Amino acid sequence: SPKVVIIGAGVVGCSLADELTGRGWTDVTVLDRGPLFATGGSTSHAPGLVFQTNSSKTMSTLARRTVEKFLELGAFDQVGGLEVATTEARMAELRRKSGWARSWGIQARLIGPEECAALHPLLLPEAVLGGLHTPTDGLALALRAAESQAERASARGARFFARREALEILEHGGRACGVRTAEGDIAADFVVCCAGFWGAEFAKKLGLAVPLLPMAHQYATTGQLPGLPVAGLPILRHQDQDLYYRAHGDRLGIGSYSHRPIPVDMGSLAVDTADEPMPSMLPFTEEDFAPAWRASMALLPALAETKVEEAFNGVFSFTPDGFPILGEHRELPGLWTAEAVWVTHSAGVAAAMAEWMVDGTCGLDLHECDLNRFEQHALSPTFVAETSARNFIEVYDIIHPHEYRTVLRGLRTSPFHSAQQELGASFFEGGGWERPAWFEANAPLLAELREGGTRIPERDGWSDKFYSPISIAEAAWTRERVALYDMTPLTRYEVAGPGALSLLDRLTTNVVDKPVGSVVYTLMLDERGGVRSDLTVARLGAHTFQVAVNGPLDFDWISGHLPDDGSVTLRDITGGTCCVGVWGPLARALAQPLCPDDLSHEKFRYFTALRTYLGAIPVTLLRVSYVGELGWEVYASAEHGRALWDVLREAGREHGVIAAGRVAFNSLRVEKGYRLWGTDVTTEHTPAQAGLGFAVRMGKGDFIGRAALAEAPAPPTMLRSLVFKDPDAVVLGKEPVLVAGSPVGYVTSAGWSATIGRCIAYAWLPAETPIGAEATVDYFGAELAAVVSAEPVVDPEMARIKR
Ligand code: FAD
Repeated sequence: SPKVVIIGAGVVGCSLADELTGRGWTDVTVLDRGPLFATGGSTSHAPGLVFQTNSSKTMSTLARRTVEKFLELGAFDQVGGLEVATTEARMAELRRKSGWARSWGIQARLIGPEECAALHPLLLPEAVLGGLHTPTDGLALALRAAESQAERASARGARFFARREALEILEHGGRACGVRTAEGDIAADFVVCCAGFWGAEFAKKLGLAVPLLPMAHQYATTGQLPGLPVAGLPILRHQDQDLYYRAHGDRLGIGSYSHRPIPVDMGSLAVDTADEPMPSMLPFTEEDFAPAWRASMALLPALAETKVEEAFNGVFSFTPDGFPILGEHRELPGLWTAEAVWVTHSAGVAAAMAEWMVDGTCGLDLHECDLNRFEQHALSPTFVAETSARNFIEVYDIIHPHEYRTVLRGLRTSPFHSAQQELGASFFEGGGWERPAWFEANAPLLAELREGGTRIPERDGWSDKFYSPISIAEAAWTRERVALYDMTPLTRYEVAGPGALSLLDRLTTNVVDKPVGSVVYTLMLDERGGVRSDLTVARLGAHTFQVAVNGPLDFDWISGHLPDDGSVTLRDITGGTCCVGVWGPLARALAQPLCPDDLSHEKFRYFTALRTYLGAIPVTLLRVSYVGELGWEVYASAEHGRALWDVLREAGREHGVIAAGRVAFNSLRVEKGYRLWGTDVTTEHTPAQAGLGFAVRMGKGDFIGRAALAEAPAPPTMLRSLVFKDPDAVVLGKEPVLVAGSPVGYVTSAGWSATIGRCIAYAWLPAETPIGAEATVDYFGAELAAVVSAEPVVDPEMARIKR
């Protein structure tokens, strides 16, 4: 069995020791700088509330698995969870949340004020509009869970050492090979850092980045409330005031996020708490608690009978996107991390980590939590501090799925940015890039559509946010004329060298050994046959390929498979280049006069590439289209970007060229059935399940994931398209899908189609669901009727692209 050293004996480290030893890796050593098991870390005093339902399917699954395990360990008090609303907006949010619960298989029910008060008799029914009750939520007994898992791991051979600090990671041949402590070195094949909020500081000493910010969060316990039914109360969340509550015998515990963000400086903490048994417990700052106490008395009037008796500012981790940080460091293989994990997700995370370490992959999609998901700028101390503090403030806020970061905008802009600003672009952010969602300059096209009798649906207050119907006009224009789409943020790498072809052949499912000038759509799978990414591979030279991928995780995967002999180089060329999609029936009329080469359908076939010029600008043209129209992705060096944009705009004037945004782009790609990796498809799905079987050539020879696909059983679910019956019906994603009144699946993504005048959605449904089946989608409690339809909904003959 491999030697494993786990740094940190909090609930995460102990759970991981249990999971690894349970899988037969019994040579496990767990070190903690503090005593066992009240180590002084966050687990030592976590009140342990577990609300399972989250917008993320993965996080909800991790929570559900934690509950199941803690129940089995006798470390869970299943008192139920109650989340109350005091505003209409929150009530709507609870309706949306009850949809997520249905989507992810968690039983939850919306209830009225009286039933809220019946469940939680301290609560003033007049103060709330209603609530969401989840009977399987409750209280994790975090220390007991840590200790009992440690006992089980010890019985299987694991060793736990108190007061043994990991000082350094030992390295050999570029891999982590052990841990240095004051008591001596411990050799290891795997080192896993489960150091909680110490994680960032520890990684920094090693020259590595773990983007988490330790923050203080207030927790107070009242005096006794004798004669009141406190014991056994459900856990309670009052998110409109950033508060939560639990019972401690006949006292009430109050947790508050309603104060200013209080980041913790690890340098001062180490000095200030050098002799403290509980470095994660800082002195209570009473003035920060005043609003929380007032709001608590308004909701729970019985608190007037008592006061706060014990209170502290507790420390735990926040991250730039609110997700944990899991996985192996790319810069130091052999060193893993499992940090910024709540008690809520701890056992689920540990099981997923153990599976990942032992089997090399994990059945659960972890891309949201992967340590290597961050772009370079997101690792900067400034970014980590500002976004994590923002996450603290917004921890209980109602966040729209199309709402994007407001702090630290403008970090990455394409060369077309100023031109887009001049056209009134409304920007959103993704991967640090400013991306146009739609352009005010196109408002007259919308007016024209309306005048021409096209019915533009009325949206409700929620789906109308971060949205403009101008995007419908942009999409319609793309299908009729020609539009420019800024594709610069599309991550692209150059894979070059004599070994490039065989590397790509092994990593991907389709045949990439095609003549220079070919473009191939293909997939990267993990060893289980799950889809890790989809990509286009353009062969630009015998040994030079340009691959367009989904983001940093792909860099991680490809670089992890580079041959040792130096025969392949991998270079991220995204920032030094730009890309504009020129798409629509008039794309050729626009581009041909600018180009010395023949762009006719016969000479420049679909899925081929050409290095040429547009005007005086050197470009690479790829004849592909994610929107399902004639045209090209035009790549140029970044310094030529603005000139390229101007040349295209000028040449396009006579054809009515417009700039179009991401919302139009999304609706067009949904019409064409093109999947969005990470949203529609993840590692949890095989290509066939996801409708991507056409990109797999089982006969081409071996590739990663092939053996698993060959043995894959018939899948229980399939990604299907739904077309809504009511032209005004709109969904945004993650809503539950019901067939004959029972939840059977969930929506992944959706877009309103200008071509068919209806919303089209993608949804995971039971494989046996036939085309033509009737389904409903639960959108904030309303049941919207839809039909499972054949794909793609628009232009199945590909006549629009191949002309
Ligand atoms: P920790 O418990 O902090 O363990 C990390 C361990 O690593 C520590 O024991 C530390 O001593 C050790 N360590 C660090 N560096 C080294 C080193 N170099 N060598 C050896 N050992 C080292 N979560 C919920 O899910 N629900 C809640 O209701 C909830 N409420 C909370 C309320 C408060 C006031 C606080 C502070 C946190 C709360 N949390 C809650 C968060 C939760 O407590 C933490 O996210 C969780 O306990 C983290 O567990 P961990 O094992 O990762 O970290």
